[in-house]
Amino acid sequence: MTAARPFNFSAGPATLPEPVLRQVAAEMLDWGGSGMSVMEMSHRGKEFISIAEAAERDLRDLLAVPANYRILFMQGGGLGENAIVPLNLSRGGKVDVVVTGSWSRKSAAEARRYADVQVAAEGNGREIPRDWQLRSDASYVHVCTNETIDGVEFHDLPHLDNGVPLVIDCSSHLLSRPIDWSRVGLAFGGAQKNIGPAGLTLVFVRDDLLGRALDICPTAFNYETVAAAQSMYNTPPTFAIYVAGLVFQWVKQFAYAGKQGLAAIEQRNIDKAALLYAALDASGFYENRVQPSCRSRMNVPFFLKDERLNEPFLTEAKAAGLLQLKGHKTVGGMRASIYNAMPLEGVQALVTFMQDFEARHG
Ligand SMILES: *Cc1c(COP(=O)(O)O)cnc(C)c1O
Repeated sequence: MTAARPFNFSAGPATLPEPVLRQVAAEMLDWGGSGMSVMEMSHRGKEFISIAEAAERDLRDLLAVPANYRILFMQGGGLGENAIVPLNLSRGGKVDVVVTGSWSRKSAAEARRYADVQVAAEGNGREIPRDWQLRSDASYVHVCTNETIDGVEFHDLPHLDNGVPLVIDCSSHLLSRPIDWSRVGLAFGGAQKNIGPAGLTLVFVRDDLLGRALDICPTAFNYETVAAAQSMYNTPPTFAIYVAGLVFQWVKQFAYAGKQGLAAIEQRNIDKAALLYAALDASGFYENRVQPSCRSRMNVPFFLKDERLNEPFLTEAKAAGLLQLKGHKTVGGMRASIYNAMPLEGVQALVTFMQDFEARHG
């Protein structure tokens, strides 16, 4: 037996399910009797096509993605999509962005290079702003449904009743909960938060939104081209797709609290977040500043009221087997990212450590 691994609270690239890592290791030199590592296979060979098809099928099942949405395996990350979405959907016209934190602010700035961007509402990174000024002739409305840095999450998707498509950047909570597709035109997310290795970007696009790309859109980033080629117009990130496929199988088999699959994962995420926020709220030593109704289940920024204790906190946490808790540089303090692969025991260990640290330094 190998020793237990430490708990890894990185915001991304982030912790992966240990059984998946073990399977990847076991299959590294010879996948399925093929004599090849997945890294060494042609993306057009029957072995890899079977891997990619299973991954797409499992993801479609898990998220109940309707038949009129295409699932694309792309590259370029969330930041790439900040350009690729307006190149495909804006028609050079109007784009409304709701700014709820750092990531949506970046999305607005990038889209401005290609479209007439209006910030429809702007929050302070602690709550979702009200009173959105939406234009009925916008090509789409962009929101970031989980602000990874600020720790602000939409627990209900906005319902746009004027027919303007909603685009969601769901990078950091994709596959942590179901998605209400009736409200979404396009969703995108990088894999490295909740799904697999960096390098794979997932795009879900309703098929009526294909075929609108600007002339200047790179062909490899044109959703219509990528969809027509089953995500194989150019070489996709094959190894990342393979690992993501194993994660999808892991989620499908996941059981918790009498539930199975995505419902079980969501319930555990709810329980983990509740445990951590309850500990923060019960303490005068730590604090989380996000309005409770929109606190993220995935990314929990928190502060020690005495900032001089930040360095000792991180050093002692690491010694206790709790890794990568340092907050984002623009926010400071701490951040615990508690993605799907973080067990409940990891959050329990963090809470126990925090209480112990407070008892010694408070
Ligand atoms: C991480 C993240 C991104 C950026 O992803 P890259 O893969 O680094 O381009 C964009 N949006 C959100 C919400 C993220 O969490």
